[in-house]
Amino acid sequence: MANVLLIGLGGVGAVVAHKAARLPHLFTKLTFGSRRIASCEAVKKAIGRDDIGTVAVDADSVDDVVRVLTQLKPDLVIHTALPYQDLAIMEGCLRCGVDYLDTANYEHPDRPGFEYKEQWAFHDRFKAKGIMALLGCGFDPGVTNVYIAWMKKHHFSRIDTVDILDANGGDHGLPFATNFNLEINLREITQRGKYWENGAWHETDPLTVHETFDFPGIGPKEKYLIYHEEMESLVKNFPEIRRMRFWMTFGAAYLKHLEVLQNVGMTRIDPVVVDGQTVIPIRVLQAVMPNPADLGPLTKGKTCIGCIVEGLDKEGKPAKRYVYNICDHQEDAFKDVGSQAISYTTGVPAMIGAKMMLEKKWRGAGVFNVEQFDPDPFMADLNEFGLPWQDVAL
Ligand code: NDP
Repeated sequence: MANVLLIGLGGVGAVVAHKAARLPHLFTKLTFGSRRIASCEAVKKAIGRDDIGTVAVDADSVDDVVRVLTQLKPDLVIHTALPYQDLAIMEGCLRCGVDYLDTANYEHPDRPGFEYKEQWAFHDRFKAKGIMALLGCGFDPGVTNVYIAWMKKHHFSRIDTVDILDANGGDHGLPFATNFNLEINLREITQRGKYWENGAWHETDPLTVHETFDFPGIGPKEKYLIYHEEMESLVKNFPEIRRMRFWMTFGAAYLKHLEVLQNVGMTRIDPVVVDGQTVIPIRVLQAVMPNPADLGPLTKGKTCIGCIVEGLDKEGKPAKRYVYNICDHQEDAFKDVGSQAISYTTGVPAMIGAKMMLEKKWRGAGVFNVEQFDPDPFMADLNEFGLPWQDVAL
C-alpha cells in the first residue's frame, strides 16, 4: 500500500509505469510527473487506468520538486528523468521526507563525466531523516551489481576479477539512433575508458581496447572497454576485487556515425552561438534524432547483459562463472509493454527495486547502492517480471 510518484516519462519511465500499474496492491496510488504533461498523459492513456494522476514538474528545480511532493505526499519517488536532475530530486525528497530511487548517477550538465560523490554525500542527512535512497537500480548499473552480490553470496568465497559485458544485438533498421537518451549515451561512450586493477583506476583512449566475444543468444560481436558507473560502487563494496572492466558492443555503422559526429563537432556539450541564438550542439543533434521511446516497434534482435566473475569458490578452489540475461526486443520487451529492450531492461529492475523498498525487503536509512542488500528476493523477481537469468560455470 503505497503512494508513488514516477518522475520522467521517457523510454525507461514508460516501462516502469506499465509494470508498476500492474501491481495496484503495492503501487496503490500512482502519479506520473514529467517536464511535459503530454508525456505523462500519453503513457497513462496507453496503460488505460483512469485513477493514475499526472503532474507537470521541472525536476531541475528543487522548489518545483518540493511543490509537487508537498502536494502529493508520496512515500517514494522513482526518478527516471535524466542524471542532471538527481541532486535536485534528492534534495526535494530530503526536505519532504520521501524515499528515493534512480537508475543513473549524477552528471553535471556542463561537465562530462559522472560519479557518485555528490549523491553519497546525502547519506548522513537521509539517515538522520530516517529515509532511504537507492541509487543506480536499472540494468547496468542495477542488475549487474545484484549479479555480483548474488555470486558472492552463493558461489564465491573470494572474487578476484569481474568483467561486465553489455551486448545489444538488436537492429532498428535506422542508419543511426541511440536506444536511450542520446545526450547521456554519447557523453558516456565518448569519455576516456577506465578500468580498475590492483587498487587503482587505469585510463585508455576512448574505444581503443576491444576484442570479439561470443555472446549467448547473439553470437560473436566486438566489445569495447568503456568506463561505467557501477564499477565505482562495486570496488568500494567489494574491496577484494583485483580487476574490474566494463565492455559494451557497438556496430561498425554506429561507430562510423559517432566518429563523423565528433569530427564535425555535433557531440560538443559547450554552448555555441548560431544566428544570435545560443545552442548546445549535442542537444540539437538529440532534437533531430529518433526518440528512443519510439524504437519499440522497429527494433529486432536480442540484448545480452551479464557478469563474468573469477575467484575462489566456497571450498577455496578456483572458479569462473557467467550470470546473464537475454532479452528479445520484440518477444520480451515490445510484446510486454511496447518498448525496445534497452528501456525494458532498465525499467523492469527500477520497478523491482521500488517493490523491494515498498515491501521492506530492502530497507535502511541513508543512501545505498543495490549490491548492499540481499540479492535473493531481487533475483527471484527478475525471473517473475520478465528478465530471467542464466548462471553457468565456465
Ligand atoms: P528519455 O530521454 O527517453 O526520457 C527522459 C525523460 O526525462 C523525458 O521524457 C523528459 O520529460 C524527462 N525530463 C527531462 N528533463 C526533465 C526535467 N527537468 N524535469 C522533469 N522531467 C524531465 O531517456 P531514457 O528513458 O532513455 O533514460 C532515462 C534515464 O535512465 C536516464 O537517466 C538514463 O541515463 C537512465 N538509463 C539507465 C540505464 C541503466 O541500465 N541503469 C540504461 C538506460 C538508461 P518530457 O518527456 O516530459 O520532456
